[in-house]
Amino acid sequence: MSDPVIIIGSGLGGYTVAREWRKRDSQTPLMLISADGGESYSKPMLSNALDKGKTAAALVMADAGKMAETLNADIRTRVRVEAIDPGQHRIVTTAGEYRYSKLVLAMGANPIRLMFKGNAANEVLSVNNLDDYRLFREQLQDKQRVTIIGAGLIGCEFANDLCGQGVQVQLVDLAEQPLGRLLPQKMAATVQQALSQTGVSWYLGRSVKEINSAQHGYQLDLDDGSRIASDLVVSAVGLQPVTDIAVQAGIDCNRGLVVNRQLRTSASDVYALGDCAEVEGLVLPFVMPLMNAARTLAANLAGDESEVSYPAMPVVVKTPAIPLVVCPPSANQQGSWTETAQDDSMVSLCRSADGELLGFALCGSAVDQKAKLASQIKPWL
Ligand SMILES: Cc1cc2nc3c(=O)[nH]c(=O)nc-3n(C[C@H](O)[C@H](O)[C@H](O)COP(=O)(O)OP(=O)(O)OC[C@H]3O[C@@H](n4cnc5c(N)ncnc54)[C@H](O)[C@@H]3O)c2cc1C
Repeated sequence: MSDPVIIIGSGLGGYTVAREWRKRDSQTPLMLISADGGESYSKPMLSNALDKGKTAAALVMADAGKMAETLNADIRTRVRVEAIDPGQHRIVTTAGEYRYSKLVLAMGANPIRLMFKGNAANEVLSVNNLDDYRLFREQLQDKQRVTIIGAGLIGCEFANDLCGQGVQVQLVDLAEQPLGRLLPQKMAATVQQALSQTGVSWYLGRSVKEINSAQHGYQLDLDDGSRIASDLVVSAVGLQPVTDIAVQAGIDCNRGLVVNRQLRTSASDVYALGDCAEVEGLVLPFVMPLMNAARTLAANLAGDESEVSYPAMPVVVKTPAIPLVVCPPSANQQGSWTETAQDDSMVSLCRSADGELLGFALCGSAVDQKAKLASQIKPWL
């Protein structure tokens, strides 16, 4: 029998490329290897599942056994890939060695861990997969106060979700505003106000220095001398593409695993997509880019020469306190923002010096302008 196509990772990236490829090729052997339990679930739901009363088990759409059947695949769960040998088309895992015909890296991104002082610094939680969410729910039992470090998209979504459960939330961020990378100042102030009304307290322009155990829960010391008492601490300061084993294998890596528009890495027959990949310089850890990449990669695994395209891909932020859509300009684009506010809504547009629309943010009832505005932005790829 020929060597299988092997996909490392069973997140949205791994499973979507497997599904798309199976539409084109139902028989070639396929193996998925995952360090986690291999459940198919929607990761974006992790940050609005509490208020929906969802346990980790309830988020599972199909277990690994069901996925193996659906995909006609051999799925190895709780197995970690430790090394890649692109020259020999071989991987080394905690469960033995396997040869591949083609290898897809869909290894996601790990939460960035900041180094804090204090005897409870390593008790800070991050919620980036089902196992994390299970632990988060367990630890949240009977807790009243949660501090979230990082007021970006994920931090704000968890804050809103926790407040919906009656938890007091303290949000700490180095920036002077929430969603600093995604929103201009005025819209950020509107979002801040809406979240304050749900019960969020803000510690902006500040950073956590030290986390220590207290008689009840934790004590956080901030750089301006202020103190926060908390029952749980969650970090949401960003993600770092998983690249270690690929780098050790000599595969080109920048911020993420460097791939071209065909999703090919620098090693022959090795591809990458999702949060671990950097496509033509773009690291976009969101669902829409990953879906586009999965369709292209599936075509290429089936023998085509397809190239991924990235139209403008707005992200719907899951903050029920205020409907919000963000579509920031790319990092290398220079533009200036203008705002139009009306009743319960605000439209922020980012334009270049010659008037081209580069990005936007919408809140309140203006979110229904998402598709119209997205269609006016030139594709990134
Ligand atoms: C809380 C939260 C909310 C989000 N909300 C949104 C949203 O609203 N909209 C949006 O567009 N995006 C959102 N995102 C981002 C989106 O969910 C991700 O971009 C997407 O799920 C990434 O999928 P992935 O397959 O690339 O990575 P992952 O889902 O992280 O999968 C990586 C897989 O690789 C496996 N793996 C890693 N290393 C190894 C190894 N060495 N050996 C074996 N297996 C390995 C892991 O076990 C896992 O199965 C959110 C993310 C989070 C965390």
